Amino acid sequence: MNKESKICQSCGRTIEYRKKWEKDWDQVKYCSQSCKSKKNSFDFKADILKRLNDQKVKSSICPSDILPPEQKQNKEMMEYVRRSARLLAHDGQIEITQGNKVVDPEDFRGPIRLRLKRS
Ligand SMILES: [Zn+2]
Repeated sequence: MNKESKICQSCGRTIEYRKKWEKDWDQVKYCSQSCKSKKNSFDFKADILKRLNDQKVKSSICPSDILPPEQKQNKEMMEYVRRSARLLAHDGQIEITQGNKVVDPEDFRGPIRLRLKRS
């Protein structure tokens, strides 16, 4: 069986293989019950890609650009945008940057920006 780590399809963070998943590791998609229950709440992946492609952005967007004005200060909604961004980054479609440097999708603090992946 393939015991390599995989990406949680909800929060976009790495799931390390654990012994308790021995029998059904292939089916594991989420790192926690919490992630499983949130999986379908809000998915911004398509919105992020559309925004980046529409603008033909040479630069980047702020994650809050994805949200309507009344939600820009909403921390919970911002986290959903970041979750979608992490998944897209792991998928190789976008890059998450801070100060023009590409950061690890799972290891950043503070404000980030998103841009299409550059080859
Ligand atoms: Zn998760």
